[in-house]
Amino acid sequence: MNVFQLPNAVFLVGLVVQCAIRYHFVQRTKSKKSVRQFDRLEKILLAAMFPPVLLLPPLYVFTPLLSFADYHLASPIRWAGAVVMVGSLWLFWRSHVDLGKNWSVSLELRENHELVSHGVYRWIRHPMYASIWLWGLAQGMMLANWFAGWSVIPAFAAMYFIRMPREERLMCEQFGESYREYARRTGRLFPRLTNAAQPAWALKPAAGPASNEESSPPSQ
Ligand code: SAH
Repeated sequence: MNVFQLPNAVFLVGLVVQCAIRYHFVQRTKSKKSVRQFDRLEKILLAAMFPPVLLLPPLYVFTPLLSFADYHLASPIRWAGAVVMVGSLWLFWRSHVDLGKNWSVSLELRENHELVSHGVYRWIRHPMYASIWLWGLAQGMMLANWFAGWSVIPAFAAMYFIRMPREERLMCEQFGESYREYARRTGRLFPRLTNAAQPAWALKPAAGPASNEESSPPSQ
């Protein structure tokens, strides 16, 4: 059984830690009312994450069902993956802590939703999504199987590229110029190192409340 390969066992421990973090914050935010919630597409995108994250890794580790897609992965790569996984777990936990009561699994606005721009949100707008990209990379580096290893990346790419613009539009609608100003200072997944790359929208003054501009998402 693949579970006797140490990197696989370490990966499973990481997966349990990731689930425990999620479970803890789902419980903590359970009673918080949502004032605006997104649609079925959100549910489909979330459901598409279930097999790559929670189903394929245990199938690969505990059964021979996916063995047709096994391949050789050098040990240093697998251990480098473990380091990436630890970074991902830290960022996953930290972004939940920093978002606090404003966090939700799907795209939502909570009652008295506040714009968070402290902690890891001081540097990047999507640290939780950055942690999931890192998780997808770590899973690919640690599990020596094409399906169990690399399936998170395409599933999360669909989620990220569909959800992220909608989320930024929602934040713009809710927080207007405050969000635009925040977006001017931050990068999406990587900290903004220079002001030189500022997009044109960031330099414009705020549009009036009736204008569509107010809700157009940042372009970078
Ligand atoms: N995209 C962020 C948050 C993911 S959780 C990240 O990757 O870290 C998704 C929820 O967070 C959304 O429903 C949205 O309402 C909320 N959200 C996203 N950015 C926020 C911010 N800066 N302040 C407050 N809430 C935010």
